[in-house]
Amino acid sequence: MNQHTTLTTPFIEARPFKVYTQRQLDKIEALKNLPEDLRFDMQVVSQVLPFRVNDYVIDELIDWQAVPNDPVFQLTFPQRGMLKPEHFDEVAELLKNQAPAAELKAAVERIREDLNPHPAGQMDMNLPMLNGQPLPGMQHKYQETVLFFPSQGQVCHSYCTFCFRWAQFVGDKDLRFSSNEAETLHAYLAEHKEVTDLLLTGGDPMVMKARHLRMYLEGLMKPELDHVQNIRIGSKSLSFWPYRFVTDEDAKDILELFRELIAAGKHIAFMAHFNHWQEMDTPVCREAVKRIRATGAEIRTQAPLLRHINDDADQWVKMWKVQVQQGMIPYYMFVERDTGARHYFEIPLVEAWEIYRTAMKQVPGLCRTARGPSMSADPGKVEIQGVTEIHGEKVMVLRLIQGRDADWVQKPFFAKYNDQATWLNHLEPALGEEKFFYEDELAAMEESKAALIAKA
Ligand SMILES: *Cc1c(COP(=O)(O)O)cnc(C)c1O
Ligand code: SF4
Repeated sequence: MNQHTTLTTPFIEARPFKVYTQRQLDKIEALKNLPEDLRFDMQVVSQVLPFRVNDYVIDELIDWQAVPNDPVFQLTFPQRGMLKPEHFDEVAELLKNQAPAAELKAAVERIREDLNPHPAGQMDMNLPMLNGQPLPGMQHKYQETVLFFPSQGQVCHSYCTFCFRWAQFVGDKDLRFSSNEAETLHAYLAEHKEVTDLLLTGGDPMVMKARHLRMYLEGLMKPELDHVQNIRIGSKSLSFWPYRFVTDEDAKDILELFRELIAAGKHIAFMAHFNHWQEMDTPVCREAVKRIRATGAEIRTQAPLLRHINDDADQWVKMWKVQVQQGMIPYYMFVERDTGARHYFEIPLVEAWEIYRTAMKQVPGLCRTARGPSMSADPGKVEIQGVTEIHGEKVMVLRLIQGRDADWVQKPFFAKYNDQATWLNHLEPALGEEKFFYEDELAAMEESKAALIAKA
């Protein structure tokens, strides 16, 4: 036993993982003191949008004195404004009248369909193919990075109310990316020498048992997969369940797997999703961060910018500073995606850029590694670089920090100034241009991909 670690490690008691879903909403003790109408609102909204929360989030992360405005409450509990008024009223009526289950279900399904359940070509455009067959558990949009969705990792320890993968959590099987075939993944990677990064995502891959995670990752140490140098794991477990790395039964096995991969020459980037500093302010989270970093893995952080949760530069300043202090590396600030309850969370692009800039001005360079605000849109990750004036025309300056065609990357382009726009499709080319520079090529790519899929 290493004495140094035992001395500096606070004693952290194991906590049973207790989770509540839509059906157990009225069993949550902490909610019982809230006004009746607020609780009814939650019942209504959780019929449509996924809900899942655990005891750790309830007891340790939410400041119940600040509810309903508490950011972590907004992050995990359904809020009335998340449904459009007409949708809300319809479901509320059905609940009040105790409508038959089939009628409620039909209404709920129709409303979900209205909420753009699969944004940015996720279903088709990014589908990789192996031997002429599409591989539904993967996405390959940018040449050097493959996204993989392990089938055991398609849930999360709790759900974010703004999640762009919400459709898969409400059991829409068609939209559920999943693949349990580690071999298929490895075979695809072996054929694609241009891929340097594998990004494991979900849901949350850290809900998986260590032995499942091993199944997917161990094979990467084979010589034919030497080109896959970086393993990224996209996870919100440091927020929602840091016990995963501290007291869970197989916590040690996870850390051991990281060590083995690193000893074999891989880089592990643990891509931690944090929306608010309040989520990393517990002893168990700090301990989990330490343990992951002690394996040699790096933790990089990313989060969308969201109304009601983190639409405040000071919050980002504090969050990035705490992250850097704990040895984490700020990586991305995202724009809220065009799906689900986006109208509740969205922030105009110009305002997003102002928040980003205001925060950046106040932090040291070590925090300025966070890029953004960035939209994960059809052509790629589009960053709002700023607002300026060119020959008397007010414009927004944009660039792709990732592109479907790598040649699009880092070329500035311009959109007409629009302080209401919340997504790329609201923007129009500026300076007399008719199209953004990538549009024709993107359309051609979409056409040829559709033809490939139709053939398969
Ligand atoms: C963000 C993203 C990546 C990773 O991009 P990096 O710029 O390398 O961080 C890969 N694939 C998809 C589909 C993404 O959205
Ligand atoms: S942790 Fe990620 S995948 Fe899970 S609910 Fe939140 S945003 Fe969605």
